[in-house]
Amino acid sequence: MRMPVLLYHALFDKDSNRKKYEINVREFERQIKYLSDNGYRSFLVDDFLKTDGSSAAADGKGIVITFDDGSYSDYSMALPVLRKYGFTATFFVTVNWIGTENYVDWSHLGKMSEEGMSIQSHSLTHPFLSGLSREDMYKELYESKKVLESRLNIPVDTISIPGGFFSREVLRMAEEVGYRCVCTSVPGLNKLGSRAKGLLILDRFVITRKTSFQNFKAIVNKEPGYIAACKAQHYVKSAIKRLLGSERYYALWSKYLRKV
Ligand SMILES: [Zn+2]
Repeated sequence: MRMPVLLYHALFDKDSNRKKYEINVREFERQIKYLSDNGYRSFLVDDFLKTDGSSAAADGKGIVITFDDGSYSDYSMALPVLRKYGFTATFFVTVNWIGTENYVDWSHLGKMSEEGMSIQSHSLTHPFLSGLSREDMYKELYESKKVLESRLNIPVDTISIPGGFFSREVLRMAEEVGYRCVCTSVPGLNKLGSRAKGLLILDRFVITRKTSFQNFKAIVNKEPGYIAACKAQHYVKSAIKRLLGSERYYALWSKYLRKV
């Protein structure tokens, strides 16, 4: 059984000057309510690492909700909505941003963890990992895992790649420092259940302010035509990124593409 993993960033409750990746909390609730009304059940990314996961997903109504970055709205807005509908989510936090303005602090993360949410790594400082030296890459991968594990007393087996850029080197080192799973921003469905040894790589659908409710439904209902279109669009975007390099792509993106 194949399962979609959704990727959210920050939520907001007032419309003005919002970044592309942030979505209104009312739209988020509409999406979660749709999942609840239609019999979906949420799984944590951690469930992909358990061998008995396949039976749980047998009815095709499994969904994984993830958040990247560790914004304060994870705690103030997402958590109450998830709690209201009885859903759980996996939160990937940028460790050195914890406790800074607009981001969650350790007490928020402790409460989220107690409520059944999974807290996992999104690196230490949110760099493009594939552009780092081996030493810096090691630090980002290893220290973020160790700090979260010791401060929250939880296992951290998964990392979500900042900016979505990864290379074979990043994957190799992630496995070397003890991760069992890597979450990407590549759109696609994932197989839950018994899996071969080695690092598990999970695809995710990025949900932004521009994701219409109709498109949201197409993702969670696994409509083959829409999924194929997402993959094709991603392929074109990553070809451009490869040509320009990640830093230049993002500079260009924030200057021009963001406005359209
Ligand atoms: Zn991020």
